[in-house]
Amino acid sequence: MKKIAVMETGFSPSPVQELCGFFSGDRCFIKREDLLPFSFGGNKVRKARLFYEEIKKEKPDVIMTYGSSSSNHCRIIANMAAAMELECHIVSPEEKYEETFNSFMVKKLGAVIEKAPLCAISETIDRRIATYKKEGKKVYFIQGGGHGNPGTAAYVECYQEIADWEESAGIKLDYIFHVSGTGTTQAGLVCGQLLAGREDLKIIGLSNARTKERGQGVIEESINNYLSSVGAEIPKEQVFNHLHFIDKYRLGGYGEYHEGVTDAIEKMLNVYGIPADTTYVGKGIWAMEQYLKEEKAEGKNILFLHTGGTPLFFEWMQKG
Ligand SMILES: *Cc1c(COP(=O)(O)O)cnc(C)c1O
Repeated sequence: MKKIAVMETGFSPSPVQELCGFFSGDRCFIKREDLLPFSFGGNKVRKARLFYEEIKKEKPDVIMTYGSSSSNHCRIIANMAAAMELECHIVSPEEKYEETFNSFMVKKLGAVIEKAPLCAISETIDRRIATYKKEGKKVYFIQGGGHGNPGTAAYVECYQEIADWEESAGIKLDYIFHVSGTGTTQAGLVCGQLLAGREDLKIIGLSNARTKERGQGVIEESINNYLSSVGAEIPKEQVFNHLHFIDKYRLGGYGEYHEGVTDAIEKMLNVYGIPADTTYVGKGIWAMEQYLKEEKAEGKNILFLHTGGTPLFFEWMQKG
């Protein structure tokens, strides 16, 4: 098992820049997780770094994960496995297959992709792990999207980076916005906030697909798992009060075309030179604008967390 230099040293804090004139009446900043220096960056890289630490300790032969081969998560895990010279096995849901930049990279990186119907995912994973075991191979399994305690811990660290930035920039944030999918990113940020005892900050997870009914419970569970793993006791009510998972702007979920989202992507590119995709960041920027308009938020300091997805940006460019 080979070590990856950049994962060994950890990352410098991802850059924060101001989006001047983005939303009149407020100051808006963006934290560029998309620039984290491994496999085109994004929040899945920050999560992968802490999984990397565990993988080094456990010394598996195979890294296995679940997800679409077009996902940012699978690209990064496949890249990490290749760089560590470990086998990578991805269980993917059967879906309409279309080659994407992510799926192309996953293939190029040598990952094995096993398709299974949605209703048979967990038995497929269990069966495959058992087969590897019989062959004398040890498997390290990562949940889809880098869900799980290491993923949450990665965003507790990110919360701390943001707090350090506020201090050095002399800025107190009122809001942090980001796109919430599996909710691991949000769980980590909220745990960071809870552990710091910070009340004057609203962290807003903008759901890109899940309903509040489904999404919020998963985030609560991630928060509770993480807090108990570090021996912190925080009342349920306090956790609940800091959890803002908004499903109002998820549109039709994945892949839905929306003019406002396209406008947001063009604005990010034309005005600021920042790539954004239709599934996550473009939709999140649009959703944040709607939220701020509806809340009539003025005179606020706002940070948007750019969670990555650069290969998906090129997908959008190609489709025109
Ligand atoms: C996965 C992903 C998200 C969502 O992160 P979660 O931790 O799953 O909520 C947001 N943006 C991008 C670009 C992603 O790839």
